[in-house]
Amino acid sequence: MPDSVHVVWYKRDLRVDDHRPLAEAAERGPVLPLYVAEPSIAAGDDFRPRQWTLIREALIELRARLAKRGQPLVVRCGEMPGVLETLHEAVGPLRLWAHEETGNERTFARDRRVRAWADAQDIPFMEVPSRGVIRGPHDRDHWSDRWEAYMDRPLVHPPEALAPVPEIDPGPMPTHADLGLRPSTAALQQIGEAEAHRTLDSFLYDRGRTYRRAMSKPGPATTECSRMSVHLAYGTISLRRMVYELRRRRDELQGQRGAAADDRRKALSSFDSRLHWHSHFTQKLEDAPRIETESYIPAFDALRADDWDSELYEAWLTGHTGFPMVDACMRCLRTTGWLNFRMRAMLCSFAAYDCWLDWRRFAPTYGGLMADYVPGIHYPQVQMQSGTTGINQIRIYNPVKQGKEQDPDGSFIRRWVPELARLETTEYVHEPWRMSPIEQQAAGCVVGTDYPERIVDHLEAYHHAQDTIRTLRERPDVQEQAERILQQHGSRG
Ligand SMILES: Cc1cc2nc3c(=O)[nH]c(=O)nc-3n(C[C@H](O)[C@H](O)[C@H](O)COP(=O)(O)OP(=O)(O)OC[C@H]3O[C@@H](n4cnc5c(N)ncnc54)[C@H](O)[C@@H]3O)c2cc1C
Repeated sequence: MPDSVHVVWYKRDLRVDDHRPLAEAAERGPVLPLYVAEPSIAAGDDFRPRQWTLIREALIELRARLAKRGQPLVVRCGEMPGVLETLHEAVGPLRLWAHEETGNERTFARDRRVRAWADAQDIPFMEVPSRGVIRGPHDRDHWSDRWEAYMDRPLVHPPEALAPVPEIDPGPMPTHADLGLRPSTAALQQIGEAEAHRTLDSFLYDRGRTYRRAMSKPGPATTECSRMSVHLAYGTISLRRMVYELRRRRDELQGQRGAAADDRRKALSSFDSRLHWHSHFTQKLEDAPRIETESYIPAFDALRADDWDSELYEAWLTGHTGFPMVDACMRCLRTTGWLNFRMRAMLCSFAAYDCWLDWRRFAPTYGGLMADYVPGIHYPQVQMQSGTTGINQIRIYNPVKQGKEQDPDGSFIRRWVPELARLETTEYVHEPWRMSPIEQQAAGCVVGTDYPERIVDHLEAYHHAQDTIRTLRERPDVQEQAERILQQHGSRG
């Protein structure tokens, strides 16, 4: 159909490099690259102003990159498939291209509506796999082989020129207000295709040597972890490009000797595993979209269903629990949109075990705080850290022990919890309640007045959670279900 306009529908793939739908469309005719900002998606509990700040920044760069090739990105604020309908009326016959996306319930329903619309209009809709995730029935035993094969395929070069669709106005870039959002006040990482490549290079060649040692410590992790998550989340770089560059770097290090090269090699190997996990976790939500709103084992939904305590939730969400490490981590996440893996797990554990909050109610808001929010990673992780998968070890983090181990000099806590900044004894920074009343007065930090009392008794909460979950896991019906979960979602090596 030579006269068709090829619409490339951008979602979480905001780049030109290694973008198969764009390259395939460019070979076939005029290309209309499209991004649709949808108020109905932005209205979700998991969507915060910070997400739109990042997407908008990435779209501005993408528009310029595409314009250089002959056709700027067309941006609309509205709902799909209505926007497509309008474009169809304006340009005539269409073909639609997109990457498959493992999103949340709302984006999944939207994708189905678009598919139904395209079918009804007889518009060919080509969806291309992304992130090493397999759509449809597949054999989990050979999943890793397929992942490797996908990563090994040659990267797709960006088209040099695009045949334009001049009759379509690129349109203004929607603002936060257009989407019904307040402006974001978060101090976020920069995003965009150029920044993604710069960040990856600096990790592979400069930062990152102490990645393995630093990744659990929230302070050092800020610069020693790759910080590629936000780029992967919005697709300003492809996972395949990352795997390619990391393996190229590994080959370069092949013959090199010495501690520095050894450290680098080990760091790259850990990084490689994590890129694999990115797809491995996303595959879980792709295979079972229900786990966004239902525990892996449905019996676990009843566990905390009637115990929601709004005061505990508010204290956790705003970083006022009286546990310095929990509060520091939450305040850091709220301000910057980023936190290292271990501390995200600790925050989740605190909500689920210490505060005994139902993960189904806190997970969307918690995800929305993350600049790199990816539903496919987030929901399986939240369930793992809340003990509702039925197959993973129950891991309850002790927030004081985590503070002492991961922030031994208390600098991270002092930075994010200014109430404790004047405490000179580091031991007290981790346990301010151990100061005598006179010491509290002298430090200008009276617990209960200047800094909250602890909102829960950790040890009591620990035993309650362990006993309750163990009892449930011993039930024969739960064990049967756990076996099925293991077959469907378990890692194979
Ligand atoms: C409760 C909870 C919720 C989380 N939610 C998200 C989320 O919404 N989005 C997100 O990208 N990560 C999430 N993570 C995983 C992890 O914390 C982040 O990927 C990581 O901190 C991002 O920083 P980085 O890019 O510097 O990571 P690096 O350590 O440099 O890792 C490189 C990449 O590997 C992937 N990765 C790393 N760890 C994991 C993991 N455990 N599972 C799956 N993929 C991983 C990410 O894509 C990451 O960008 C969550 C973890 C927990 C415990």
